[in-house]
Amino acid sequence: MIKPLRFWSTLVISVALSLSTFAQADDVKNHRPNNGPLVAKYRQTLLNRFLTYTTYNSQSSNDQDITPEQIETANKLYKEIKQFGFPTTLTEHYYIYVEVPSNVSYPTPVLGFSSHYDTTPDVAGQNIKANVILKYNGEPIVLKNGHVLDFNSDPYLQQMIGKTIITSDGTTMLSGDDKAGVSIMVTLLQTLAENPSIKHGKVQVVITPNEDVGRSADYIEETPYRPDIAYDFDGKVNGEVTVGNFNAEKVIYRVKGVNGHQSHAAENGYRNAWAPACELGAACAKEEWLPNKSTGTQGYAELHHMNMVNGQMSEAELDFRLRSFRQSEIDQWKEYAQKQANQIARKYDVQIERQVFKQYQNVAENIHPQARALANSALIRAGVTPRFQEERAGTTASMLMLKLGNGAYTIFTGQQNAHNFTEWLSEEDMFKSYWVALNMVDEAVALRQPDTPALQLPVERRLHPAEK
Ligand SMILES: [Zn+2]
Repeated sequence: MIKPLRFWSTLVISVALSLSTFAQADDVKNHRPNNGPLVAKYRQTLLNRFLTYTTYNSQSSNDQDITPEQIETANKLYKEIKQFGFPTTLTEHYYIYVEVPSNVSYPTPVLGFSSHYDTTPDVAGQNIKANVILKYNGEPIVLKNGHVLDFNSDPYLQQMIGKTIITSDGTTMLSGDDKAGVSIMVTLLQTLAENPSIKHGKVQVVITPNEDVGRSADYIEETPYRPDIAYDFDGKVNGEVTVGNFNAEKVIYRVKGVNGHQSHAAENGYRNAWAPACELGAACAKEEWLPNKSTGTQGYAELHHMNMVNGQMSEAELDFRLRSFRQSEIDQWKEYAQKQANQIARKYDVQIERQVFKQYQNVAENIHPQARALANSALIRAGVTPRFQEERAGTTASMLMLKLGNGAYTIFTGQQNAHNFTEWLSEEDMFKSYWVALNMVDEAVALRQPDTPALQLPVERRLHPAEK
């Protein structure tokens, strides 16, 4: 059994972090340094910063625009970041924007990084006490309240033997989602501030509230955050880069019959909504659209729920959820469903109204042509094997995509088991992610755009593999 060290006692222990990875040869092909010696200097700072942030209460809430805990955290982060001397803004909606001005004389694409400081309201998340486990020995980790982390529940732990991992004490989550991303962002800003010899183009950072309640894009502003190439730091395992996700729409059909007494329907025109609603639901349940067998990049359409409105038999609501990597499939479904709705409305002499809500968008539908190559190179130079993947869900980047119209890839940060008492963090993965971010800065500055103003760089729609 592991007896986890308490956080405060750990802070004074000099962590014996492996230095072997820093000795990698420079990127010979690109004649660029791999930043190893520089990032090594900030490894302990990054870990200490993360541990400090875990003590900040920052849970968001489904019922509040912003929670007092988020306000307090935003203020602390703003104060800390402002010290680095870059233009920093804390907005009335508690978004933090930082703009690092370019220090080269030629135009380069604007690089953007995002992360979120709020934590989920779904798991206890106040007064978090992080446990640092140095040189993990592979034994099951027993936390308070009977929570156990072991190879069965977390096969990835097997790769952590001998490394540093951080857990909660079991009474709360850890809040690595997304304090890892925020720690990476702030340490990157510190690195750029303290090392003016690093050449970089314009870098924009946004740290948002309310991500874990699905509202991180609600008050995002284009003026302070309009990057050409953007990455969201909120992913999980070492090497993972999320390059695509579902488009998501919610379609509500409201079937409106006529109120009256059933016994005299022939005379008073009473129309029940039940039969037309069921018929519409059934018509839209084509087998190839059901989620039942949907895998990979195959989308689905699902009747999420159907109910009678206000207990009235004359009014019914059908709530459909559409998910697809290709917007064209969603559009086809909507066209088909609308035809059915029109026919059914005529048949039953009822009204059928539709409302469409766009929820999030596939980042691959509008991504900078260099975004993938840049990420690939930044990972490889940090000694990380890139694993590009598609997510059968939404990401923060996909919510920003809907609002800003530009996609971003989601980069791993080392967080594991988010929204759980057994949440944990790989210190090495978080460090590698920070290293990747710094590499991205000098990858972007190498993309010289001598004749093109940065904001007018061509952006092409990346075809999904299945469309090629
Ligand atoms: Zn997150």
